[in-house]
Amino acid sequence: METGSGRRDVAIVGGGPAGSALACFLCQRGHDVVLFDAARFPRDKVCGEAASPQAWPLLEAMGAAERVGQLHPHPLGGMQLTSPDGTSFQGRYSRDRRGFAARRRDLDTALLAQARAEGAEVHEGTRVTGLLRRAEGVEGVEAEGRDGSCRRWTARLVVGADGRHSVVAARLHLGRLHHRLRRFAVRGYWEGVEGLGDHGEMHVGGGGYCGVAPLSATLANVAFVLHQREMASAGGNLEGFYRDALRHRWPRLWERLERGRLVETPRAVGPLAVEARAVAAPGALLVGDAAGFYDPFTGEGITLALRTAEIAARAISQALDARDRALPERLGGYESARRAATRDKFRFNRLLQVAVGWPDAANLLARRLERRPDLADRLVGIAGDFVPARTAFGPRFLWALLRP
Ligand SMILES: Cc1cc2nc3c(=O)[nH]c(=O)nc-3n(C[C@H](O)[C@H](O)[C@H](O)COP(=O)(O)OP(=O)(O)OC[C@H]3O[C@@H](n4cnc5c(N)ncnc54)[C@H](O)[C@@H]3O)c2cc1C
Repeated sequence: METGSGRRDVAIVGGGPAGSALACFLCQRGHDVVLFDAARFPRDKVCGEAASPQAWPLLEAMGAAERVGQLHPHPLGGMQLTSPDGTSFQGRYSRDRRGFAARRRDLDTALLAQARAEGAEVHEGTRVTGLLRRAEGVEGVEAEGRDGSCRRWTARLVVGADGRHSVVAARLHLGRLHHRLRRFAVRGYWEGVEGLGDHGEMHVGGGGYCGVAPLSATLANVAFVLHQREMASAGGNLEGFYRDALRHRWPRLWERLERGRLVETPRAVGPLAVEARAVAAPGALLVGDAAGFYDPFTGEGITLALRTAEIAARAISQALDARDRALPERLGGYESARRAATRDKFRFNRLLQVAVGWPDAANLLARRLERRPDLADRLVGIAGDFVPARTAFGPRFLWALLRP
């Protein structure tokens, strides 16, 4: 087996939003970064493809805002939620904040290009298969090219940014499927969809929920999430299952879709939820989905990937600059900073899941929010990551939401 040239500061496994952002932030701080992705870009990724407004300042910070702007992503000014009985309300982001929808194939290619432009050495089509270890901890990776060639790469730190089925988390025995949640998602693209606007849509009911992200005035990403047991009837015919599920579970949405056309073969992923026992270990840490993924209902995954990368870059840089033997201990700061940055939003997501899991509660909530656009805006602002999630647990907000 060959050995890659020289020891790097950081080896990043995965070139999705988390890995590319981390590479940018570390290169900006003068570190020597090598990044591996099993795929060749542009590559597809099953996702709702709606990024929250807080993605923009992070893209700006990593130097990628201009590249992403050049993709002309569809601007999103808010979210519309439709409950099982058809009650709809819309929450708007504030005037100066816009989210966006863009195909991950294009978005992730732009972010990876930025990582290269910042100075990261990027190896596409290179799958990391294992970790190199010494007594003190991880000291590199083993990677396999598409031609079957294997190489060893040493680094002072290895970062798992390799998504929900992270090989880094698995090799360190940190990752596992969520103990309870077993949900799957199926995504398709529809052309000629009527009634798309400058907002994302969430259709609750049908035993799960279905998101619609407008990628242009007529093209939409339509992705639903259902429990694993509902997927059993998919058999070998995913497209038939996808169409039937939309027709029977979200009939109002289906009326709009059937006048358009499905333009690509649907794709399914799952189980969705994964958790990590810890996000740092001697010589290694995890960012983005590799560090845990709960559920896409509030659509923060892309922003969270960028944000955890920013937090990780700060901790890594401090640890590397200190040039002492306390690298593992110093990385512990990342764990607590990440938890502080994500805890309230995850709780908010869980609270919403409970509310929308009961059709009656979802209908009641939707009727209330239909009459209170100020509360709807607040809720959507929290989902959009610019209103602090902890305000959702304040007694005033809950009282305003629930009082008869
Ligand atoms: C159904 C669904 C809908 C979603 N909708 C939204 C939404 O609307 N908005 C939103 O913000 N988020 C959404 N998310 C979440 C979002 O997709 C993720 O949070 C985000 O992609 C996380 O980025 P990441 O960089 O951590 O991982 P990924 O984007 O998964 O990137 C991981 C990368 O690692 C590479 N890789 C994996 N294994 C290896 C290996 N062994 N060696 C080398 N490379 C490897 C992969 O090829 C990939 O490029 C959704 C997720 C799902 C499942």
